[in-house]
Amino acid sequence: MALIHYYQGSMYAGKSTAAVNTLLQAPHYQERIIISPSWHARGFLSRNHGKNEINEEELTILPDLDALDFHVIASPIKRLLVIDEVQFCPKEKLIQLLEMSNTSEHLDLIVAGLQVGQHGQPFANNALLLPYFANKMTIIHAPCALCQSKEGLVAVRKWLIDDHIRDEYSLLCKSCFDKFFAYGRGSLPIPDPLFDKNK
Ligand SMILES: [Zn+2]
Repeated sequence: MALIHYYQGSMYAGKSTAAVNTLLQAPHYQERIIISPSWHARGFLSRNHGKNEINEEELTILPDLDALDFHVIASPIKRLLVIDEVQFCPKEKLIQLLEMSNTSEHLDLIVAGLQVGQHGQPFANNALLLPYFANKMTIIHAPCALCQSKEGLVAVRKWLIDDHIRDEYSLLCKSCFDKFFAYGRGSLPIPDPLFDKNK
């Protein structure tokens, strides 16, 4: 039993999809748990796994690490734990879980999370996870919305005219992101799917 895999990458790259697929394809575990903030907030485990695709009787779905009972997961049954949005996990609890999984006969762990935040800064948890998952990592990126390279990294919130902020993101590669800040937020021609739709 062990630390199984770490899916790290940008928004829209399919990190959660990959982690959830692995979870669903592993019925041999006696218990399967997923920490999924998006399930409770938005009704899906990943963009490809909405309520209709998930049999809630097969999985234990929890909103965050605080909802996880550490005594229960220490019990000796074969258990798979998937943590999505691992970048937001409280450090102490995450370390405790990593140590448990690293030494336990019973707990397998898969994590998925963002590489960098909205200012391009790496999340602190990434450095924590790296030594544990050194040879068990997949780094995935979605395309950059501006130059179409396959290196999309930083998700920036879109701004609409009239200073209206919409909770929707465009993914930029590092080089376009740096230009974005050099020019100022409003001036780069980030494609806007909603605007194009209305044309
Ligand atoms: Zn780019």
